[in-house]
Amino acid sequence: MSDTKIKKQEEPWQGGVAKNITFIVTKDCQLACKYCYLVGKNEKERMSWETAKAAIDYVLDREEEFPQESVVWDFIGGEPFLEIDLIDRICDYIKTELYRRDHHWFDSYRFSFSTNGINYDSEKVQRFINKNLSHLSIGITIDGTRRKHDLNRIWKGSGPERGSYDDVVRNIPLWLEQFPGGGTKVTISSADIPYIKESVLHLYGLGIHEVNINVVFEDVWKEGDDRLFEDQLMELADAIIDGGWYESCSCSFFSENIGKPLDPELENQNWCGAGMMLAVDAAGNFYPCTRFAAYSLRSKKPLIIGNVRDGIDQDKLRPFLTLDRLTQSPQKCIDCEVASGCAWCQGENYDAADTDTIYQRSTAICLMHKARVRANNYYWNKLFRKLELEGKKEEYEKNKPEANASLTC
Ligand code: SF4
Ligand code: SF4
Repeated sequence: MSDTKIKKQEEPWQGGVAKNITFIVTKDCQLACKYCYLVGKNEKERMSWETAKAAIDYVLDREEEFPQESVVWDFIGGEPFLEIDLIDRICDYIKTELYRRDHHWFDSYRFSFSTNGINYDSEKVQRFINKNLSHLSIGITIDGTRRKHDLNRIWKGSGPERGSYDDVVRNIPLWLEQFPGGGTKVTISSADIPYIKESVLHLYGLGIHEVNINVVFEDVWKEGDDRLFEDQLMELADAIIDGGWYESCSCSFFSENIGKPLDPELENQNWCGAGMMLAVDAAGNFYPCTRFAAYSLRSKKPLIIGNVRDGIDQDKLRPFLTLDRLTQSPQKCIDCEVASGCAWCQGENYDAADTDTIYQRSTAICLMHKARVRANNYYWNKLFRKLELEGKKEEYEKNKPEANASLTC
């Protein structure tokens, strides 16, 4: 590399000012990914039109309770595009209602999808994309090289294990043509560590410039994983810098903002958006995030905060609105020298806690975060030294591509 022009990645749309409303349209998926946190996937729980319409009406009838400047209507599953007919009807209805009501979200909305990419090129999905193109965000999940992807992302069903790499990668050119700034999300579990470097480079090679990558929050790590992880990230750092990929591509593992102590007075906000967002499932139940629905939880009861008939129960929502870093973190995290960028997932905190509380932070990623910080320091030291020697630091600062280092889910 690289003859590619320096290129800014797309910022997350209206980050921080948009309300996120998620429809869990189906709990079915063509795949049975081994790391998938969705423990209760099934083919039966599909959202009906009546439930979807009731959820939309509930939100749009209460414009004053949803004052955010913009809205992101998110569709997840399972695999959301399995329900493309329903999704198309939902989106048409939302657009019509925003116009009819002269709603402040009219022309300030997005439809967002995270898909496994398998039926991306189907006629129905393509018709939907072309109809809504200027209001869409679509991310296709591809984990990297064939061997890394197929290690986890396998087809559902009995019989010999079959990976899905070929079925996804064939749709990447079409997706990048329609969404040139498209980024992908990669999830790393213990068995994936040896493939991190080759996978990130492979994704760059496919033309995906933004790789948002994170380690799972669950307590899956084995002794020595942090060292292996650090070694992989150092090798990746060398490859990105020596190969010139840093000019046009980003990888969220490397961020200038991580690995510093946090001032408890000034930087006390919660990490994740649970409670600020609203999710609705096929039964019409509301959740603070999809991670609190029954199919996402290993050991806890679903945490339902209302439903489309009776509305949101503010008493159940309130604990989420008062969450901050200090109230849920153990002392070691408050005093931590490398705390910035050390993430948590509220749903995993709840699932892993000793009681039914959401106020007990899980620190299963502790050693992995520290390893990431060491490799991150190596990356920036090496990159800035090179840029200074070449007299290109200022130019880089102006144009640097950035992945979303805070994207954890
Ligand atoms: S989990 Fe570990 S690395 Fe993260 S803030 Fe707490 S002590 Fe620091
Ligand atoms: S980090 Fe977890 S709880 Fe928070 S928004 Fe993401 S999935 Fe939901």
